[in-house]
Amino acid sequence: MSEYKNLKFDVERSEFRAMMGEKCPQCRQGNMFKYPLWRVDKFDKMNENCPVCNLRFEVEPGFWYGAMFVSYGFSILLLILLGVVIYWFFNDPPVMGYVVPITIISLLAVPVNFRISRSVFLHLFGFVKYKADLR
Ligand SMILES: [Zn+2]
Repeated sequence: MSEYKNLKFDVERSEFRAMMGEKCPQCRQGNMFKYPLWRVDKFDKMNENCPVCNLRFEVEPGFWYGAMFVSYGFSILLLILLGVVIYWFFNDPPVMGYVVPITIISLLAVPVNFRISRSVFLHLFGFVKYKADLR
């Protein structure tokens, strides 16, 4: 058993946690965004570089355009999910019973979707290697 003593499972810095927490993919500590999500007026303001390891978040010019496809995917998922929920829990209402709540909830989800899409895209397609020694 003693050989497992040095095996450290770093849950604090897992890739998934960093992605969901909108952290830098290289050090998994620095915030990608300047303000917390609840500052809805500035939800889209990003740090140019990681405040911890100085990684440039926009790894190549126009990189964030790719995040739009991730965002599109999340929007479709949300739309389907809400459609199913409304169908089952509100007993298949007329068309406006779908359009109005789905539109409102989709618009409210814009800041979350915007941020998480950029984070997911950077983590999955930025090809940035995690450097555990950056502490
Ligand atoms: Zn970093």
